Amino acid sequence: MSATIKEVAIVGSGPAGYTAAIYAARAQLAPILYEGSVTAGGALMNTTEVENFPGFEKGIMGPDLMDQMKKQAARFGTELITDDIVEMDLKGDVKTLKDGSGNTIQAKSVILAMGSAYKEIGLENEKRLSGRGVSWCATCDGFFFREQKIAVVGGGDSAMEEANFLTRFASKVSVIHRRDSLRASKIMAERAAANPKIEFIWNTEVIDVLGDEKVTGLKLRNLLTGDETLADFTGLFVAIGHLPRNELIVGQIDLDDEGYVKVQSGSTQTNISGVFAAGDLVDHTYRQAITAAGSGCAAALDAERFLQGH
Ligand code: NAP
Repeated sequence: MSATIKEVAIVGSGPAGYTAAIYAARAQLAPILYEGSVTAGGALMNTTEVENFPGFEKGIMGPDLMDQMKKQAARFGTELITDDIVEMDLKGDVKTLKDGSGNTIQAKSVILAMGSAYKEIGLENEKRLSGRGVSWCATCDGFFFREQKIAVVGGGDSAMEEANFLTRFASKVSVIHRRDSLRASKIMAERAAANPKIEFIWNTEVIDVLGDEKVTGLKLRNLLTGDETLADFTGLFVAIGHLPRNELIVGQIDLDDEGYVKVQSGSTQTNISGVFAAGDLVDHTYRQAITAAGSGCAAALDAERFLQGH
């Protein structure tokens, strides 16, 4: 166990985590930030161009934005650890966190910014064929689907973004949505509708993914008529939203019915003194890079105020 007790430990490396680190480091709190063992940077590492983060008139690639935030956090003295936290004990004045390498650290305050994970449809064959035609990340896997027929499930901004991106590679992209109108923002929906390689299959759900070694097709059900059909696709991209990454804190931190962390109104304070939460782990309304960054800033300021009072 590290001998010193840290002022602030931050778990998660999306816009919320890095922004909290920038603020905490500039407040001379010498934060330690756990970025995760596989990909630091959170959900934006899997996106293409971010057009709506203020300050970038011409847009910026998601991974570049995260790299900038990480370097900015490091510049002011954040200790960045490329590992997962696997256990947390958040009770009491001193919190204990254990990482994937077996190291334990103690901290007076903790900022939870673990973000969210891709939601799955929940089909057995979706899981079995994951990485064999089923994917949750067009920027990671789109390249493997040159001149193929791809289905994208979902009707939100993520589905539109994935569909548009995939037209770079695919011969055709079919967006399969369970209703007859999109949840996506107008600009994203219009862009998809104007793309000649994209078609929409409305009022339809995917009820099975077909294929032995890799995806060869989908079984679809029309939700208005109940008709079931088979359709040839070699790729299925699932873009139906996210679930908060709360595994580490279930039972310790109060969560709402959907599993998001509950914070006191107007702050980032959780039910445990000295523990703050920010970003997609808390927010099921806005879920933007800029709102996550803003709440990361608020969490650092809340932690700073808490530490001053103790
Ligand atoms: P979302 O807005 O929650 O949309 C999820 C979509 O998936 C909805 O259309 C939903 O259908 C559908 N869906 C949910 N569960 C389903 C299921 N089990 N089976 C079939 N369909 C299902 O999620 P998102 O698109 O990931 O976006 C999340 C947030 O990130 C939003 O605030 C969005 O604006 C933001 N975002 C922004 C950008 C951008 O601005 N560039 C890009 C990506 C995401 P219903 O519509 O019927 O509920």
